[in-house]
Amino acid sequence: MAQLIDGKAIAAKIRSEITAEVTDLRAKGIVPGLAVVLVGDDPASAVYVRMKEKACQDVGIFSDEYKLPADTSEQELLRLIDKLNCDLRIHGILVQLPLPRQINTEKVLEAISPHKDVDGFHPYNVGRLMVGKPLFRPCTPYGVMVMLKETGVDLAGKEVVIVGRSNIVGKPVAAMCLAQHATVTICHSKTRDLAAKVGQADVLIAAVGQPEMIKGAWIKEGAVVIDVGVNRVGEKKLVGDVEFAAASERASAITPVPGGVGPMTITMLLYNTVESAKHTCKC
Ligand code: NDP
Repeated sequence: MAQLIDGKAIAAKIRSEITAEVTDLRAKGIVPGLAVVLVGDDPASAVYVRMKEKACQDVGIFSDEYKLPADTSEQELLRLIDKLNCDLRIHGILVQLPLPRQINTEKVLEAISPHKDVDGFHPYNVGRLMVGKPLFRPCTPYGVMVMLKETGVDLAGKEVVIVGRSNIVGKPVAAMCLAQHATVTICHSKTRDLAAKVGQADVLIAAVGQPEMIKGAWIKEGAVVIDVGVNRVGEKKLVGDVEFAAASERASAITPVPGGVGPMTITMLLYNTVESAKHTCKC
């Protein structure tokens, strides 16, 4: 039976380290600050924003929320970002996605100063990650890497198979695994014989968004399985992209859903915000 990789416990440990660091910074007169921008009234986005603000409060980060109406124009949002780019109290800017359709998301993300881009989505930060000199790493894949490290997985020489090639999970996690000397295979919807590819993985990272589409029987004996997927089934149940019960019989370690990668994402946002405050203040 596989070891459970407890994302809640790992996140709690990292958050207590962040709290200690924020306390030290505050003692030097530096208060890390995160601006959270929400446009419109998408209920799921509102929940995420509340969770991020609560997490900031818990570790002592100053959070400044901007709630804008759904009919906000692109110009108005760009003006706000310009203002936040120059605001010395703010070290990180997060624009909650998705944005309403009248607003060009790419343009908005590129308007955020790369030095305050704590989500790691600006092409400058994507480029830095690709050349092996990251400034801010995107939070979910960074959380995956921290979980692997905390589980004692050394990636050098390992076969890592990633299912999913999105800009927010699949591609950046591939770059991070490569930087740690893994041999990386990225699969997607056009990949042939996914079962065989998955079967080669010493470490499998699933980021697809389809409930339990990766079958337990495909998993190599002893593999480490990180399931990024979060899929709602029925009214209340959440499942991952991997068939958890069957995969647990074959894997050496596996993340649950919920309680796996989920809690790491906001944790790494807090981490990036504190790092940004440290860079700005050169301490
Ligand atoms: P996207 O929809 O952007 O990407 C999904 C990827 O899966 C695409 O690359 C797609 O391939 C690939 N895919 C789809 N169907 C198949 C298939 N049958 N076989 C192989 N590959 C397939 O999703 P995200 O990366 O944004 O998210 C993935 C999952 O992770 C979702 O469940 C999401 O909710 C979750 N998530 C969880 C987070 C957390 O904090 N825990 C944060 C972010 C995401 P193609 O490119 O060819 O279309």
